[in-house]
Amino acid sequence: MAKTLTATMRAVAVTPKKPGSARQVELPIPKVAGEMALMRVLEVGIDGTDTEINNGLYGEPPPGSDFLVIGHEALSVVETVGEGVHGFEPGDLVVSTVRRPDNCPNCRAGESDMCLFGNYTERGIKGAHGYMGQYYSESPAFMVKIPPALRPYAVLLEPLSIVEKATFQAWKIQERLLWQPARAVVLGAGPIGILGTILLRLRGLEVHVYAKSAPDSLQGRLLTSLGATYQSVDDHPVTGIKDELGQIDFVLEGTGNSAVAFQAMAQLGTNGVLCLTGVSAGNRSIEIPADLINLQMVLGNRVTFGSVNANRRSFEMGVQHFQQAEQRWPSIFERLITRRVPFDDFASALNRRPEDIKTLLTIAAE
Ligand code: BGC
Ligand code: ZN
Repeated sequence: MAKTLTATMRAVAVTPKKPGSARQVELPIPKVAGEMALMRVLEVGIDGTDTEINNGLYGEPPPGSDFLVIGHEALSVVETVGEGVHGFEPGDLVVSTVRRPDNCPNCRAGESDMCLFGNYTERGIKGAHGYMGQYYSESPAFMVKIPPALRPYAVLLEPLSIVEKATFQAWKIQERLLWQPARAVVLGAGPIGILGTILLRLRGLEVHVYAKSAPDSLQGRLLTSLGATYQSVDDHPVTGIKDELGQIDFVLEGTGNSAVAFQAMAQLGTNGVLCLTGVSAGNRSIEIPADLINLQMVLGNRVTFGSVNANRRSFEMGVQHFQQAEQRWPSIFERLITRRVPFDDFASALNRRPEDIKTLLTIAAE
């Protein structure tokens, strides 16, 4: 009798809540039919969430599985499509969104990033396998088509979508008043801080970035080339920013450090808005100048809000902004990719180095 061979693929998985458990696993290549497409992964970006998951602080396996394939920032190419897939064909470049809806009103309206019930899943993070493997299957509803010219840096679309949503929300909120923002502060010079600076510069704001890296670091030089100023918090602590700059209309917090988030509240200018994007999975308590923050928030009509994830609209805005930014600052996105690591060295890719901006795991060359 002939034996049926199931084709397999390799992927990187963790045992959630178990520190340092990242390992290679072998899984069947998904079979697609109907309204599903098979994606062949080219490269996967690594971010703080992946590191936190591998440190056992975050992450949840799919129901019935004791492991989670990680990775939620992937550039892929369509390999095959089911007969019910329209609008995509083999060879198309794709970045897929991260969150999958539950049945709450927001999810049903296509805004799972605003999920009300919390039963959403997130590929590579919460209850669903991610993209750090050779293949995954996907529904066109969550696939975003990438123009071929964006191939060198389109893997950055997922982190870009996070700041697309954050800034879009901030500007929406500020429709509450006459708002003519001129000056923004960005806290953190990781991918979120730098991509946020790009969007704020495209909006015409004066941008001041504060982070841990030295002024002559690659981060500092990149930000300066965008026309932003860059200061190291070693000589310019967050608590002194408003005395240094004056009125601050918008603050984007991208460090994930909860102490910095509260310090930022006290730096915000009149009628200003502060957006928090960093996830802090720890359990830290700090002392804060509560009276002062309360007084300033009220007397200055200030807003602080959090922003997580991004829906399809933000990914599509990102595709537009990629092209605008690339025209204004050629190769800016490629300069953010500081390390490309071959699949076998995934453990090294998950280990953040101080000079890293964005590390990519290469899954397939083409
Ligand atoms: C991802 C988001 C996700 C968030 C919280 C981030 O790293 O980019 O898509 O919603 O983590 O899990
Ligand atoms: Zn929901």
